[in-house]
Amino acid sequence: MITFEEAYKIVVEASQLIDTETITYNRSLNRILAEDVKSDIDMPPFDKSSVDGYACRAADLKNELTLIEIIAAGTIPNKEILENQCSKIMTGAMLPKGADAVIMVEDTETTDNKHIKYLKEYSKSNIAYEAEDIKKGDIVLKKGTLIKAHHIAVLAEVGKTEIEVYKQPKIAVIPTGDELVEPEIKPKNTQIRNSNGAQMIAQIQEIGIPVNYIGIAKDTENDTFNKIKKAIDENDIILLSGGVSMGDFDIVPKIIENFGFETLFHNVAVQPGKPTLFSRKGNKFIFGLPGNPVSSFMQLNLLVKPFIFNMMGYKFVPKNIKMPLEKDYTRKNPNRMSWIPVVLTENGTILPIEYHGSAHLNSIAYADGFIAIPVGVNTLKKGEIIHVRQI
Ligand code: AMP
Ligand code: MG
Repeated sequence: MITFEEAYKIVVEASQLIDTETITYNRSLNRILAEDVKSDIDMPPFDKSSVDGYACRAADLKNELTLIEIIAAGTIPNKEILENQCSKIMTGAMLPKGADAVIMVEDTETTDNKHIKYLKEYSKSNIAYEAEDIKKGDIVLKKGTLIKAHHIAVLAEVGKTEIEVYKQPKIAVIPTGDELVEPEIKPKNTQIRNSNGAQMIAQIQEIGIPVNYIGIAKDTENDTFNKIKKAIDENDIILLSGGVSMGDFDIVPKIIENFGFETLFHNVAVQPGKPTLFSRKGNKFIFGLPGNPVSSFMQLNLLVKPFIFNMMGYKFVPKNIKMPLEKDYTRKNPNRMSWIPVVLTENGTILPIEYHGSAHLNSIAYADGFIAIPVGVNTLKKGEIIHVRQI
């Protein structure tokens, strides 16, 4: 059985960079840039006031200043500031010639409509200087950026309204199991609700990709074959859950092989999620995730997400925080890497959640994240500083 680290390496190395396409910037949320983006202008484009105030000469601030003009944002000042003069200026408006400072309205008093006095000690100019943020031609966003709202703002700022991004792979989801009913249905005697289907779809949607839901496959060769066939024909990545371990009706691995897929691994020394399968045929990939709900959740998070991101040119780095453990934690068998759900306490410590194993789905509903216990380690000591992988 391979280690989790080996499985991760196989997955990331197998992923092939997908093609690119051009889309408009305001539809690019969660997409990944396939080009460096440069600015077509300086920012700011001219010296401008960063406050509502009076533009003047710093050398004159001890004196009473005479008001000569009011400058609104978006207009060009008409008058040059001479000795002991000022112009009222709005935030974002162009600085008039002759001025080298803007004093804030709140720091002044007006003696009459035409004259003002400065009440403070001069400390800063309150001017945003031309090109101090961006110079024309500067790279403002790098290839490989995962686009979020603040990146869209930058695209808008530099007028980059058409962008090249990586395409998104087509992804299908198939839960397997005769015992499964869809969540709308009240399970009868031996049945349970299909929670993996919705969970897998939601995790993929979280990274901004729509999912083709094929539906529950029965544990029969016929139904499983047909559903997998449909998924392979129309998609790049197929996510299955269940049917991949040692049970008499775990028929998924054999069927996948019959389609000519090569198994890159089947079984990983990780808990939860040992019976995880990964296979490839050309540029189509299948993940056979375990049926147990915590396992499928974790392995999708740990292996499938980085795979998809890598395919789209994004180096996914999970969000980790380091904190001390609240109390000792012991496990019996250190043969596998183990992921334990934890909460972050008000004392700034990590507390493992009561967790009965990979079927105990509602325990992870409270989790802030997971900690990994490496192979060979069975005790973590109170106070030990540990990485929490956030979910
Ligand atoms: P399997 O890997 O098919 O043997 O399934 C392992 C366990 O996970 C069994 O207890 C299944 O009933 C359960 N299970 C399988 N698929 C799902 C699903 N889609 N949603 C919830 N539980 C599941
Ligand atoms: Mg099953």
